[in-house]
Amino acid sequence: MTENQLDILKGVFYGQAIGDALGLGTEFLDKNQIAEYYPNGLSEYAQIVQDKHRSRWEIGDWTDDTDQFLCICDSIINSGEINEIAFAEELYKWFNGIPMGIGHTVYKVVSVPQFTLYPHKAAELIWKFSKQTNASNGAIMRTSILGTYEFWDYDKVAHNTEIIANVTHWDRRCVGSCVVLTLLISKIISESKFLTFDELCQIADRYDDRIKPFIEKSYTLAIEDLTLDETASLGYTLKAMSAGLWAYFKAENFEDGLLRVVNEGGDADTNACVAGSILGAKFGYKSIPKKYIDGLIHKDVLEEKLNNYIKRLNNSHI
Ligand SMILES: [Mg+2]
Repeated sequence: MTENQLDILKGVFYGQAIGDALGLGTEFLDKNQIAEYYPNGLSEYAQIVQDKHRSRWEIGDWTDDTDQFLCICDSIINSGEINEIAFAEELYKWFNGIPMGIGHTVYKVVSVPQFTLYPHKAAELIWKFSKQTNASNGAIMRTSILGTYEFWDYDKVAHNTEIIANVTHWDRRCVGSCVVLTLLISKIISESKFLTFDELCQIADRYDDRIKPFIEKSYTLAIEDLTLDETASLGYTLKAMSAGLWAYFKAENFEDGLLRVVNEGGDADTNACVAGSILGAKFGYKSIPKKYIDGLIHKDVLEEKLNNYIKRLNNSHI
């Protein structure tokens, strides 16, 4: 990998974790509550109000989104490939620890007997029980890493993403929104190019025609008009995707883009994971302010996993 590619890869890892840790500060808050909690806006980990929800984490810690991102990372480091069983086993290990912040869908799917043997069947079953309506954001929140794996082969990136998304999320809106995210990242790493609005819409249309309107929103609307804090759609995969794509299209740098997403509230840690990983890819690790990197209390864990992942990439593929 070139120096520039490594910088982008590192930007994805750190953007993911930083978005998660900072987004926790406004998670489940609406705009009015954010104005009360943070009259001048949230921009530092140290400002995070330790209320009942947030006090379960230490300041500068990430949540389930990045825990699961690292489960994918570990499954690749250990198995040397993208494999639904290897990922399901990592996820199950995490589930049996203290899975703080775990979402409803992941909880239900991982609880299905023999999940680790038949994860895709378990995910399909839970989706069918939801009357095929559940399209939550629990897959897209963890998935940015897959844009950095076999990034030179776009068909493989899409296929890898489908395999891992389907371990817990069966709906085509979930899978398609994940693939939009990972192909966008792989294009940047591979060719230093940026997928256009039309190209992103074409990718989305391969999966579900309900995705494209959310790409259009992120392209045409102000972030306030994405209504990320709307209670009824909190946790919808297309909302998280639109937050990330808004940052992709509109942000001028890592910090401003991320803070705009964080200060919209809603499922803010997830929205900011998606946006952070995209911004980390677009502007690179070098563009991330040091205070956000050093403020991660488990920075050493992230750094170690990142280095092992890079070693694995170098040994296996490049
Ligand atoms: Mg979370």
